[in-house]
Amino acid sequence: MAIWNLGSINADMVYSMPHLPAAGETLAALRLDRFLGGKGANMSVAATRAGSEVHHIGAVGSDGDWAIERLKAYRAGTEHIVQVEAPTGHAIIAVEPGGENQIILFPGANRLISKDQLNQALDKASAGDILVMQNETNMQAEAAQLGRQMGLRVCYAAAPFDADAVQAVLPYLDFLILNEVEAQQLQQAIGKSPGQIGIKDVIVTLGSKGARHIDGETGAVLDVPALPVTAVDTTGAGDTFTGYVLSGLDRGLAMAEAMDQASRASALMVTRHGTADVIPELAEVQAARF
Ligand code: ATP
Repeated sequence: MAIWNLGSINADMVYSMPHLPAAGETLAALRLDRFLGGKGANMSVAATRAGSEVHHIGAVGSDGDWAIERLKAYRAGTEHIVQVEAPTGHAIIAVEPGGENQIILFPGANRLISKDQLNQALDKASAGDILVMQNETNMQAEAAQLGRQMGLRVCYAAAPFDADAVQAVLPYLDFLILNEVEAQQLQQAIGKSPGQIGIKDVIVTLGSKGARHIDGETGAVLDVPALPVTAVDTTGAGDTFTGYVLSGLDRGLAMAEAMDQASRASALMVTRHGTADVIPELAEVQAARF
């Protein structure tokens, strides 16, 4: 079995600032840290580190060789990442000493994935494989529809939330994962809670309160607690959770076990600074004592 991830690839450039710059202000940064990021890349790395075969479907610009090399080094499949005539997606993140941030996000190449590229990639997928998407690329609805036709298990992480984007994929989903705020936004948009929209598996992540699975067919609810850790940076916690849950299901775990592993992985993640580069390996997750 394999996981096919139609996902974003970003350079996260984190500038430590004495304060957030005001309009018109020029301000020197104290430090620059560069990370591989993007929800898609984070999920590919998480699912790979959890032990799955992952094929990333995405795009970078001519300035994006390093991102492909980094994903390869993390053992994610990069054969369906193309280079296009646009800059690689990037986030310019200013952080002040109190932790408050300001982010400029440039989607760039992430929005230039072609239908041909998608078709060629999914042509290699087999029924029963998992297809996952987030809302940082184009081609989401096309991928979801094709995935459903091919008998893939189609999963959508509804982030960053956009009511139109999520409604375009809803008819094709087997699995929806979203955080508490996104769950409220979805309810406002369609007048139903995520558990009432007829999707078999729904997970709402609840930050330090854990995560809830709702079986959309039976209405059964399963709560998985978060683990007691001191959080220093929650960036990428949700992506780590999603990558680990999907990998758990891909490796044949029951939903409860997959969520338990995901909860442990994302608890470790919030104790670390950074995104894809610091997602824990399965062995660390299994060995961790909380
Ligand atoms: P982000 O956008 O920051 O990546 P998110 O909003 O998508 O995250 P959250 O619901 O904040 O996702 O977190 C995902 C999972 O990470 C939670 O379900 C939980 O298991 C774990 N987690 C998050 N915050 C904490 C915390 N403070 N302590 C322990 N576990 C946490």
